[in-house]
Amino acid sequence: MKQQNKPFEIILFGPPASGKGTQAKLLADTLSIPHISTGALLRAVKSDNSNPLSKEVSDLMDNGKLVSDEMVSKIVETRLKNDDCQFGYILDGYPRTEDQVKYLDTISGIGYVFLVDVKDEVVIDRISGRRMCKNGHTWHIKYSPTEKEGICDSCGEALYIRDDDNKEKVKERLRIYHQNHDPVLNYYQNQNKLIRIDGNQHIEGVFQDMVKYLVDDLRSKLNTK
Ligand code: AMP
Repeated sequence: MKQQNKPFEIILFGPPASGKGTQAKLLADTLSIPHISTGALLRAVKSDNSNPLSKEVSDLMDNGKLVSDEMVSKIVETRLKNDDCQFGYILDGYPRTEDQVKYLDTISGIGYVFLVDVKDEVVIDRISGRRMCKNGHTWHIKYSPTEKEGICDSCGEALYIRDDDNKEKVKERLRIYHQNHDPVLNYYQNQNKLIRIDGNQHIEGVFQDMVKYLVDDLRSKLNTK
């Protein structure tokens, strides 16, 4: 692996509904480094009709398949060369395969690998209790219930369960998540780089735990110099 030469070269992992996206944004804003989501980068390729890769990416993403290691790694490599990455970045959605891990090792000096750790049962509970209205307001039958069951407090519209929020589909999403991520997480675990953060807390608690880890680590590095 390349030597860590930027203060904040960070990877953020977490299962669906772990709040990983929210944490990535908070951390990126606080540290003034970019949040680089490969899902977002690929969605931009997909919707750019002038891009020759648009159709290929679109077909794969629409079918829930992974884009090739080569393509996504090149896109990430190009993005990491941007000036805004001079103090580091937060990678979200990458690496997702062992080949991507190996490639990343050649182009970056990852210093921190955070996992927002949430148990499968909690993910299932969080997602399958979610209710939406047609205006996009989101509720949860246990954690943020509406006053009248089945009716949105904000706009009075009927609530429904999003098609991919049913229990069976959530289980399938988790199965794919583990299939892709477990070998990648094991790799970083074996390198003593994996930092598990308890994702069962409120947003603020998860965020504070990550910041505390970073501050403690920087302090101990300064002390040993
Ligand atoms: P995400 O927003 O991270 O769930 O990614 C959405 C979709 O983008 C995935 O289902 C894949 O099709 C594609 N994608 C994102 N990141 C990667 C990656 N690291 N490797 C391959 N495909 C990816």
